[in-house]
Amino acid sequence: MSKAINTFEESMEVVKEKRLKQALWASVFVLIAAIIVFDENLKSTILSLLIILMMMPTHLLIKREKVHLAASYFLSTLGIGLLFFIWNGNGVRDESMLALPGILLFAAILDEKKLFFSLLILFVLNIILIGYANKIGWIVSNPAYSTMSSSVISALIIFGVTLAVWLLENDLTKAAKRLLNEAQQAEKSKEEIERLVNFDQLTGLPNRSLAKKYFEQAELKRTKEKPCSAILFVDLDNFKSINDTYGHSVGDEFLKKVAAILKKGTRAYDIVCRQGGDEFVIVVQEIEDPDSLAAIAINVLEKLNSPIVINGESLTISCSIGIAYSLIDGDDFEQLLKKSDMAMYHAKSSGKNAFSFYDEKVNIQSHESAKLLSDMHTAIKGDNFVLYYQPKYELSTGKIVGAEALIRWNHPIKGIIAPNLFIPLAEKSGLISEIGRWVLFEACRACQRWTLLGRDDLHIAINVSPIQFRRDDLDMLVREALTTTKLSANQLEIEITEGTLMDNDEVLEQTLSNLNELGVRFSIDDFGTGYSNLGYLKQYPIETLKIDQSFVSNITTNNNDRTIVEAVIQMAIKLELDTVAEGIETKEQARLIESAGCKYGQGYLWSRPVTEQDFLKLLDA
Ligand code: C2E
Ligand code: MG
Ligand code: MG
Repeated sequence: MSKAINTFEESMEVVKEKRLKQALWASVFVLIAAIIVFDENLKSTILSLLIILMMMPTHLLIKREKVHLAASYFLSTLGIGLLFFIWNGNGVRDESMLALPGILLFAAILDEKKLFFSLLILFVLNIILIGYANKIGWIVSNPAYSTMSSSVISALIIFGVTLAVWLLENDLTKAAKRLLNEAQQAEKSKEEIERLVNFDQLTGLPNRSLAKKYFEQAELKRTKEKPCSAILFVDLDNFKSINDTYGHSVGDEFLKKVAAILKKGTRAYDIVCRQGGDEFVIVVQEIEDPDSLAAIAINVLEKLNSPIVINGESLTISCSIGIAYSLIDGDDFEQLLKKSDMAMYHAKSSGKNAFSFYDEKVNIQSHESAKLLSDMHTAIKGDNFVLYYQPKYELSTGKIVGAEALIRWNHPIKGIIAPNLFIPLAEKSGLISEIGRWVLFEACRACQRWTLLGRDDLHIAINVSPIQFRRDDLDMLVREALTTTKLSANQLEIEITEGTLMDNDEVLEQTLSNLNELGVRFSIDDFGTGYSNLGYLKQYPIETLKIDQSFVSNITTNNNDRTIVEAVIQMAIKLELDTVAEGIETKEQARLIESAGCKYGQGYLWSRPVTEQDFLKLLDA
């Protein structure tokens, strides 16, 4: 508010200065004209010259920006000078009288209240005095005294009108101030709206729509030496866990700090914007070659890697960055944003805490993925998934003890698709929940059919994705499947990966414990490929370790792998866990595995995963 008035007063000062100068030179001009016109009157000439001289310091004061003082000095000098003319001339009938209201009006226009009233009193007193002096004969003004009284009255009326004009002017000035204030207020509101439209509320960074404008400006700055601008799409890795663990207010604080770090980690003329959530976009301009982009990305990765302290808590995070640049990937903002987003996903899926340039191959892949995903939606509704069963053998007797259910997608055009090609996509898109539910019911139904055929000693193992553990009420779902299919709980085995157990949260622990109470068994799939921390083996109700086929396939040729397999089996025996060796393809492998103490095996040596019909044949054989 105060700034608004200041601005008004500042602009008034400039106007005053200008008007004052004009008034000064106009007065000088009139006085010189008076000297020329009344050249026979020496007294008037001397007086005029004297007034001109007296007024000159006004110019100096204006130059020194003492406008207020200059106005007071100028108008007082002129007013007093004119009074001299009036006293010595024709009294209130003197032509100079006409100039007095002008001086007052000018004081009013300059908004000099004190000066206005001082001059008004001075002039009125002088007029009355002149009238009185004429009456008592102290001075005799020309024309005769008889008309003097009415002239005094006329003069006072003129001053009255001047006062009214001053009041009017005063009102106008106030109205002008008010209008100006309102205009400034409107300007402020406009700025606020612009801020809301263009900036992110949390971090204060430009938002997506402003990023677009900055990018378009950057495009215009491209030169032969610096021919490209670029977009870096920055996505924080595992930010959700910070929100989940510490709450949203810490999450917000965290994002603000990340915003500040990103700004520090980029060059002054690169623009960091918030795209939304934990995604940021950096518009990079005036780039010579893609190598400089890599350098910027590395810098951002490094800066973000140092711990961020919030409420005394030290939190660490990393990010994945995708880069697309105008020289190669196009010059349209939306297009580049999409491409940098895709590149970011590529960086993320290849291990996070990394950057990746957009690559057309990734684009094609992602088109294929999108198509596959939409096909998968249809497949769930139709009858396009099938379960294959791979028998599991007891090594000492060669007996089939159960089977692992492995999903296949019977694609109408592409034929049978292996799970490695669509399970990751299903996990990413969330479709895994529906697929997993189908697998669970289908596998339980199959195993129950075998039970009814007299093989109640068999068990069925299903693979459950970590996503299912996190998202679904898995214990409830399993209970429902067992009740519906009437399969006994101890015939069901759930294969989990080490990664699932590493998530280490209470929900998981509760789910596993509920399922264990039901009688369901657990095995660790692909054991040895995951984490080295084995604490979870005692923490959770695990019964079986499935030794990963990568160790098994090399067991006859690689001593290290052989040692690892033997050590795992020994550890399992000590922990009273069963072991299953996956991927046994040769008799030699089977022999070595068995001699190391492993109880069960699974692999192409006996059978590939087969349809239920073929599995029943294997049982009969
Ligand atoms: P996995 O659970 O480790 O399954 C074992 C994989 O090894 C199977 O591949 C199987 O066909 C293959 N295999 C078995 N014996 C041999 C052998 O002697 N030599 C070789 N080279 N390979 C052998 P598959 O069926 O392609 O499954 C791959 C992975 O897909 C599975 O690994 C599992 O992680 C996942 N998967 C399969 N079905 C499902 C499912 O229903 N749900 C979930 N979430 N994942 C599944
Ligand atoms: Mg498995
Ligand atoms: Mg496995």
